[in-house]
Amino acid sequence: DPQLNQNYTFETFIEGDCNRLARSAGYAVAAKPGGTSFNPLMIYGGVGLGKTHLAQAIGNEIKQSFPEKLVLYVSCEKFTTQFVESLKNNNINDFVNFYQAMDVLIVDDVHNFAGRDKTQDIFFHIFNHLHQSGKQIILTSDKSPKDLSGLEERLLSRFKWGLSADLQIPDMETRMAILKKKIYQDGIELPQEVIEYVAHNIDNNVRELEGAMVSLLAQSTLNKKEIDLALARQMLKNFIKNSSKEISMESIQKLVCEYFEVPVEMVKSSTRKREIVQARQISMYLSKAHTKSSLKTIGQFFGGRDHSTVIYACQTVEDLIDTDKKFKTYVADIQKKLKMN
Ligand code: ADP
Ligand code: MG
Repeated sequence: DPQLNQNYTFETFIEGDCNRLARSAGYAVAAKPGGTSFNPLMIYGGVGLGKTHLAQAIGNEIKQSFPEKLVLYVSCEKFTTQFVESLKNNNINDFVNFYQAMDVLIVDDVHNFAGRDKTQDIFFHIFNHLHQSGKQIILTSDKSPKDLSGLEERLLSRFKWGLSADLQIPDMETRMAILKKKIYQDGIELPQEVIEYVAHNIDNNVRELEGAMVSLLAQSTLNKKEIDLALARQMLKNFIKNSSKEISMESIQKLVCEYFEVPVEMVKSSTRKREIVQARQISMYLSKAHTKSSLKTIGQFFGGRDHSTVIYACQTVEDLIDTDKKFKTYVADIQKKLKMN
């Protein structure tokens, strides 16, 4: 099937908290196309987070398990172009029949339907036909159906029938796993600290993460240099946000939580669990040291606490740095990462 990219499989799609629901829903759909309540399955999320990969993985998996099924992957753009062509050539029927013959239809980036009323109309009919015949529909979009704009209400309401599952930005651990998998596939060896450096600094999008890795490998080949941290720093300059960027409480919170592997929202909660309290106190301490925020603002930010709590947190952290070697290393480590950002 030329429309499906063979590299986009479940096997190569790394699982993490960021994609667990979408991935397992996709898996369920692939096992029983048209036979689950996930119809349509809508996968949504920001640019470069794996929507196309996952949608294609489902298609590939179905092809593998059910070779007789007709599976079609099409981008919304291509669908639109084909439709406009068929209007021009006066063969809309052929166009519609072709799509209605599919067992599985995957339409990528349906937010691009916005403003294209005629294309939406025709897609609405195809959708209904397929759905009524128990055929599987898989959609991707940059927003959830309730936040999509520029689409007809009746189409949006169809999109809400099945399951919508989002892809989020992968956490540090998942980013590392994605990089390691890539490196392994390409048969390359990279020092752990380089992988960590890249995963740490490219933290908003998987496509950029891969791009950074590709550029690193290219540069190393060109210059016949081994990849070490120094080379990585130099090569990734373009990819990494301005290093003189101001440090924010958000970035501190994110970094500390990643470091101690605690969920971000816990730090702002009222829990007194030791590890959370520690992450919260260190976040407050670092916010005081590295941002211009007042004690009051810091307290507010970390769960609506008052300034005396912040003073107490800073005191505690300073005492621990003086008395607990391990603790001192933690804080130094986090501070180093904060500056790498
Ligand atoms: P989107 O369609 O959301 O813009 P893509 O599916 O094109 O994103 O993904 C961008 C790149 O990141 C692709 O090369 C894809 O293989 C890779 N990618 C995204 N998520 C994962 C993941 N969980 N595991 C492995 N690779 C991923
Ligand atoms: Mg895509």
